[in-house]
Amino acid sequence: MTTRPVAMVLHGGAGVLAKKSYDREIDHMRSLAERGKAMLNEGATALDVVEAIVYELEISGHYVAGKGSSPNTDNRYELDAAIMDGDTRNAGAVAAMEGFISPIHAARKVMESTPHVMLAGWGANRLAEREGLEAVDDPDSYYTPAAVPDGRAYATGTVGCVALDCEGRLAAATSTGGTLKKTPGRVGDCPLIGAGTWADQDVAISCTGQGEFFIRALAAGTVAARIRYLHESPDEAARWALKDVKRLGGDGGIIAVGRDGRIAAPYNSQGMKCAVLHADGRITAGVQDLS
Ligand code: ASP
Repeated sequence: MTTRPVAMVLHGGAGVLAKKSYDREIDHMRSLAERGKAMLNEGATALDVVEAIVYELEISGHYVAGKGSSPNTDNRYELDAAIMDGDTRNAGAVAAMEGFISPIHAARKVMESTPHVMLAGWGANRLAEREGLEAVDDPDSYYTPAAVPDGRAYATGTVGCVALDCEGRLAAATSTGGTLKKTPGRVGDCPLIGAGTWADQDVAISCTGQGEFFIRALAAGTVAARIRYLHESPDEAARWALKDVKRLGGDGGIIAVGRDGRIAAPYNSQGMKCAVLHADGRITAGVQDLS
């Protein structure tokens, strides 16, 4: 039994097409919210929970992350991920990593097995190999990229999770195949601590959308700073950051959970695939605003 409220939010990306059904993704995310609830109620740390949930999202093939990633213009799969522990502010990230099933596991290895915060490209691959992480033997048969609507470059499905555990610790994790048809070597906001991913003692945050705008808005760091210095709620701070992203010309969504269990899941794109474990134990899931 837990003594303090636990809470969690997960997302499957803020690229939602008006007429498409997302029932499969919503059911999947709801089942992961149930799983996160069970883990948190059994006393799992927020860090372990966000890693476990993002791993499930990665291997499902339902999102543009892990198995569902799309190739870059060289027909190669370069993936980004980050994880952050709010209590210690330890963080790990991989960028433009190739050839491994779980970028989020690799990010955690960067955090725990190296003195660094981020490894990119072949350095990330080499660490994953050294740590014995599961490799992708044949990228062409493993990855299951979604069709690109109208041939457009379209950010559809980064995944992320934020959690508050029964000891009051917060953590965030984000993983992505990046934007569709991206340039080789392009790195988005997800693995950049303070842009697409952040956790401290007040709040844990994961972003999704056109990464270039989230980087230029320092989106996740701005949410955290507004909570710390202006005492805004996670929802107020996330909405402010999204307005800034919009001012710059981008859109997307932000999930956040505060240390008191208040959650936020606003977006300014057409929708965001999302599931929430509220602090009162309720679980909700959908592509609409669940804040
Ligand atoms: N933010 C991701 C990126 O720019 C894309 C996404 O959220 O779907 O790499």
